[in-house]
Amino acid sequence: MKCPFCGTPESRVVDSRGLEEEVRRRRACSNCGGRFSTSERVQNHVLFVVKKDGRREPYERQKLATGIYKACEKRPLPTGSVEKLITGIEEQIHELGRAEILSTTLGDLVMRNLESLDHIAYIRFASVYRDFADIGALKEALDGLSAGQNPQCSGSDRYKRALN
Ligand SMILES: [Zn+2]
Repeated sequence: MKCPFCGTPESRVVDSRGLEEEVRRRRACSNCGGRFSTSERVQNHVLFVVKKDGRREPYERQKLATGIYKACEKRPLPTGSVEKLITGIEEQIHELGRAEILSTTLGDLVMRNLESLDHIAYIRFASVYRDFADIGALKEALDGLSAGQNPQCSGSDRYKRALN
């Protein structure tokens, strides 16, 4: 940070104040002794979701949550588990380190996370998101589930029954 008076890049911090979302520093130029302030704040992480038709929309947790809560409706899930799932998904998005995410990638992430939380919710979400064209595609997803590693959830009959 150059001194605004003489342009010297060296300065020393004489005071530092941390506010909720910002750190302010009072600096003194090593050359001319001029005093100036700097501030540091976390950049708003704006993530855009790229839809299938190429439109971009700012990511909204609420929007994602609505779809997931709908899929989890009346499922016997522990309190807070859906919020935890959403936070987990957001962390995974963050790890991708991108400014935008394809809606299909986001959908796949949700499905992957839902699969380990609740299979009924997974199927419900998948049937909306994947827009199963026919019963064959749905069966395929169910068969994929029964091949999963969760021993409590083996066998797709339960899920087929639940859907009927
Ligand atoms: Zn200076």
